[in-house]
Amino acid sequence: MSDVRHLHHVTATVDRDQPDLGFFSGRLGLRLVKRTVNFDNHHVHHFYYGTERGDPGTIWTTFPYGGQGVPAGVHGAGQIVATAFSVPARAADGWRARFESAGLQVEKGTARFGEDPLVVRDPSGLVIELVPDARDERAPWRGGPVGAELAIRGLHAVTLLLRDRAPTAAFLAEVLGLQLVREEGDRTRLCIGRDAPGHLVDLVESAGAPAARNGLGTVHHVAFAIDGAEAQLRLREELVRRGVNVTPVRDRTYFQSIYFREPGGVLLEIATMSPGFTLDEPLAQLGRSLRLPPWEEAHRAEIEAALPAVTTVVIAKSENAFQSPA
Ligand code: ZN
Repeated sequence: MSDVRHLHHVTATVDRDQPDLGFFSGRLGLRLVKRTVNFDNHHVHHFYYGTERGDPGTIWTTFPYGGQGVPAGVHGAGQIVATAFSVPARAADGWRARFESAGLQVEKGTARFGEDPLVVRDPSGLVIELVPDARDERAPWRGGPVGAELAIRGLHAVTLLLRDRAPTAAFLAEVLGLQLVREEGDRTRLCIGRDAPGHLVDLVESAGAPAARNGLGTVHHVAFAIDGAEAQLRLREELVRRGVNVTPVRDRTYFQSIYFREPGGVLLEIATMSPGFTLDEPLAQLGRSLRLPPWEEAHRAEIEAALPAVTTVVIAKSENAFQSPA
């Protein structure tokens, strides 16, 4: 019995800061729940988006590396090639209209397991899917530009592209406790705990796929949620026992994390459920100002001066997502 509960977050390397905010906050209507810096490079923002509190399982995060000399990445094997968000059952037409009115091209996604996703590309070329799913009972963020009848409920699934899915499926089952939901052609669906939005991992096999390379427009890793620090340490010991190269526990301020690669090369993270994003700012103020971890506060002036200037305040229910900075 695994202590892993569901998806926690998905993190991508993206291009410029403001277009990223415009797409995920303005177009998709996610709440910016934290503006901080990359803890490994404080000259790069780290944006966290989610529903109201940024609950684990609703979180999408980005590192806007545009202009820092990082090349475009390659979509390929050993990578998460699509991130799906969950929307209400009859929301597809509304979303299509919303995207098309903004001049965004909507692609028809690959139907699978009775689902019919809408697909759009973020400004960096990332594949973002919206999956209408009546099973999702999570509350949407009601303070954004997208009404509750359409609004995203959280992550739905991630899709891993693999040259051979069998070793990955076995690893995810044996080590993290994922279970098989169903296979359909080249796609295998696994679930964490139960077959429900936010609990799903799809493995797509393509023997001839090029090798993935991280860079602008690629997903960096997916994180799974675990209850607490003790369960995380137990899982870490199990990974070490199996010979998996796993990092020490890292303090990400809003959660604690360990990282390792599954046999197909995809970078995975196990992140704790707490303390969460209200640790250093009140719920009503989430995402409004730059937050730094304690060890970076001494460098705040230099960090703020070097980061790209951004506008983060979204006008509720407006198509023109951003107002001028106050
Ligand atoms: Zn992460």
